[in-house]
Amino acid sequence: MTDSLLIPCPHCAALNRIPATRLHDHGNCGRCKKALFEGLPVELTAANFETHALRGDLPLLVDFWAPWCGPCRTMAPAFSAAAGTLEPLLRLGKLNTEAFGEIAAQFAIRSIPTLVLIHRGREIARQSGAMGSADIVRWAQAHSPSK
Ligand code: ZN
Repeated sequence: MTDSLLIPCPHCAALNRIPATRLHDHGNCGRCKKALFEGLPVELTAANFETHALRGDLPLLVDFWAPWCGPCRTMAPAFSAAAGTLEPLLRLGKLNTEAFGEIAAQFAIRSIPTLVLIHRGREIARQSGAMGSADIVRWAQAHSPSK
């Protein structure tokens, strides 16, 4: 049992330490004062990826996508909706593989969309192909270490 969790802010990537029992209390970031959970995926970049994937205590579900990919665009609303259900036990993030190809290469992403579930820097599961919101939620919950 962990008593407190390190939660990277979705806006400024500052690490917030909050008691595990208060995870559901809609806390705000200590630095930028914005909400730590808004039911939306974080835009992952080369600047914040490591913080969310490695340093935070929440499992991170990453949608590897690209703007030219039709199935990725189709899945985007479903992925956003899934964030509303899966937060605050999971963090969801979107990684544009065209803008941040080195991160996609690091995870050997060969087709998109691909979902990768990461916990403390370690890949737990991955799934390629577009999914609906309910399937994303089911798949993530089935593989998540924090149930
Ligand atoms: Zn912040």
